[in-house]
Amino acid sequence: MNFIQGKAGWIEVVCGSMFSGKTEELIRRLRRAQIAKLKVQVFKPTIDSRYSADHIASHSAQKLLAKAVRSAQEIVDAVEKDTQVVGIDEAQFFNQDLVDVCQKLANRGIRVIVAGLDQDYRGVPFEPIPQLLAIAEYITKNNAICVVCGNPASRSQRIIPEGDRVVVGAQEAYEARCRLCFDPQLPEKIKQKTEKRASKSAPASRQPEARL
Ligand SMILES: [Zn+2]
Repeated sequence: MNFIQGKAGWIEVVCGSMFSGKTEELIRRLRRAQIAKLKVQVFKPTIDSRYSADHIASHSAQKLLAKAVRSAQEIVDAVEKDTQVVGIDEAQFFNQDLVDVCQKLANRGIRVIVAGLDQDYRGVPFEPIPQLLAIAEYITKNNAICVVCGNPASRSQRIIPEGDRVVVGAQEAYEARCRLCFDPQLPEKIKQKTEKRASKSAPASRQPEARL
């Protein structure tokens, strides 16, 4: 990807479902840049507190130092003058301002690499990733493997009841599924089943909760 001459920057988006290796790919690209002695800065939203507060980390435990920011605007303010590569993880947790921020940085000659979920757990496009895909020079869409049938998986299936807080690690709350095995109604179905079971065995309230 080094055939762009001169000072032009560009935007790369790495998207896909959970467990598709987005962060792993982001880390791989950023590491290559560091090895080439380019100045790299990495950002992530403060909402993603999994694994480590000052790192981005993939499920396979690869890590890279990152600055946690509360808004996309904070990224612009924090990018230093001589920075050549900017990495942004969990981009779906930023608002639409991120699109403008990425444009600004790329226009300044920076290589911007953004990783994020392209669909939410209902299978709906997850803003601002669709907008970023439209303006990016390079797009990588990763698939995971469906845990039900083994086909390429493009969806993040939520397997805990609707309404539960997503404090549990992503590993327990979601699994990768293909379009055939994906069921956006599943969290609601699990909730109803759990409630039915709970009302049947109401007096025995000492049962441990199924999942948190
Ligand atoms: Zn499947």
